[in-house]
Amino acid sequence: THCCLATTTSTEGTFVYKDPEQPIALRVKDLLSRMTLEEKIGQMTQIEREVSNSSVIQRYHIGSILSGGGSVPAPKATPELWDNMIDDFQRAALNTRLGIPLLYGIDAVHGNNNVYRATIFPHNVGLGATRDPILVEKIGAATALEVRATGIQYAFAPCVAVCRDPRWGRCYESYSEDPEVVRTMTTIIDGLQGRAPAGWKGPYVQSSNKVAACAKHFVGDGGTRMGINENDTVISYDGLVSIHMRPYFDAVTRGVSSIMASYSSWNGVKMHANRFLLTDVLKGQLGFKGFIISDWQGIDRITSPPDANYTFSILAGIHAGIDMVMVPYMYEQFISNLTYEVKNGNIPMSRIDDAVARILQVKFETGLFEHPYANKELKSFIGQQAHRSLAREAVRKSLVLLKNGKNGGSQLLPLNRDAKKVLVVGAHANDIGLQCGGWTISWHGKAGNTTHGTTILEGIKEAMGDSSEIVYAARPDKDFAKGRGFEYAIVVIGESPYSETQGDNQNLTIPSQGIEILENTCRAVKCLVILISGRPLVVEPYLQYVDAFVSAWLPGTEGNGIADVVFGDYDFVGKLPRTWFRSVAQLPLNIGDKHYDPLFPFGFGLKMGLEKHK
Ligand code: BGC
Repeated sequence: THCCLATTTSTEGTFVYKDPEQPIALRVKDLLSRMTLEEKIGQMTQIEREVSNSSVIQRYHIGSILSGGGSVPAPKATPELWDNMIDDFQRAALNTRLGIPLLYGIDAVHGNNNVYRATIFPHNVGLGATRDPILVEKIGAATALEVRATGIQYAFAPCVAVCRDPRWGRCYESYSEDPEVVRTMTTIIDGLQGRAPAGWKGPYVQSSNKVAACAKHFVGDGGTRMGINENDTVISYDGLVSIHMRPYFDAVTRGVSSIMASYSSWNGVKMHANRFLLTDVLKGQLGFKGFIISDWQGIDRITSPPDANYTFSILAGIHAGIDMVMVPYMYEQFISNLTYEVKNGNIPMSRIDDAVARILQVKFETGLFEHPYANKELKSFIGQQAHRSLAREAVRKSLVLLKNGKNGGSQLLPLNRDAKKVLVVGAHANDIGLQCGGWTISWHGKAGNTTHGTTILEGIKEAMGDSSEIVYAARPDKDFAKGRGFEYAIVVIGESPYSETQGDNQNLTIPSQGIEILENTCRAVKCLVILISGRPLVVEPYLQYVDAFVSAWLPGTEGNGIADVVFGDYDFVGKLPRTWFRSVAQLPLNIGDKHYDPLFPFGFGLKMGLEKHK
């Protein structure tokens, strides 16, 4: 089923680069030696799929395409739509003079999340709470299968940001405020990249299931002032290394294929133009062998109005060490500018060759030359039961129990699953979009049943069975619960989906509707509050009304993982991956700070003590 690039002998002799038996270094060298400047610059160019078609790919020798953020091919972005589209692009690339396959990139940041029916795992903050690197590696492997099944071979993941301030809109993409926790989660790279087990001595395994990973955003993205996205990170070099760079040591050791530069600056210098950090430190001292990719228009932003100067920005970015440029629209300007600068000696050919060699190396390692097309045999892996079970396990392990029992009174959890009548309230209890958060089907994500999954309410119903009456109200009015004989209420409230700058938030209050629901319900009946959010929010003022309180982060499509735990089939194992502050006036507040007076400290997490109950 996989075509066309087997070893061939042509009139020109054997193409070393097409021979899978040859060492990758030789294949890279051979292919590079055959390439024109135009073909090389094409490899360095990544364009948006919205401007991609066969003639653009062939005319400019385009090396990579992406679907950025919300760029999906149709409202119902089914797997079939993706693989047909991507295979068409691939066919165009393979029908060029050298037949170099395209690398198609996507933000598969919690599963193959742009694809309808795919399994959506908890966002990274929830995975950080699990403290389970082996689970996270399995999630990487499952994601790789669901990604590769759609013809995509490149994931802009994992985000290894060390988020130091929850006001940052991307905090949920960070596993933890603690570099040590983030570091341990780089196992996801092994899962995605299908790395052979340690000590593997056999021949290099050409697998059709590998995905090139991308650790992002190098470096200091999680340390910007006041948590403002893409802002300046002001910190000493030692601080930068010990907090923000730490996970990259592990990512590089694991052989991560690519690393994305951060939009943010370090002490006033844009990371995209920082030759010291990108080239001297990352490629030099850390020995990173993959390619550095820019962020979306990240090169353009090196200069800004009124001094915006694209040529200067290109020179600065390429000199700094960026190898592939996520252009993603103005490819003609990018290509002609860069070509001109190389021809005029303003960028040495050695810099271009270094960039292209790194990109080709990843393409060979990822098996693209042997398996350029979507692997149809993997189709059944998309959203399959085994992956959903894995996601459900991740949800269970990500839950953090913060309170169980009011003012020293008896525990509410585990909930009595034989209760005659219970109340479930809040839109978050019955909405796949809300429980998945941002980066789900669309860039910002949105409420509604945007893809397949099990809502939290459905999970509760399944766990309680038919003998209990379960009353659900998305937004009950003030006296809804009073005197109606509910044994207890499950209140599910939280944030609405967001991504990137859109999620920056200086107040971090529970959206007001949630507060209203909480107060109305918990004053009338015993209640468990489940918070769906990408970060800690201000909760101290309301905790007094609450009998039990659980942080569920952004669990993804498998909402039944919550019922598994609150009804006592499993105990809580999650530990806070972040400090739970009392008020935003304390921020930034992180483990190890001098005046550390949190509501719940980093690492906190109660257990129900199930043995006692059984
Ligand atoms: C984000 C990256 C992402 C890229 C492509 C950018 O806006 O910062 O994390 O990989 O878009 O969607």
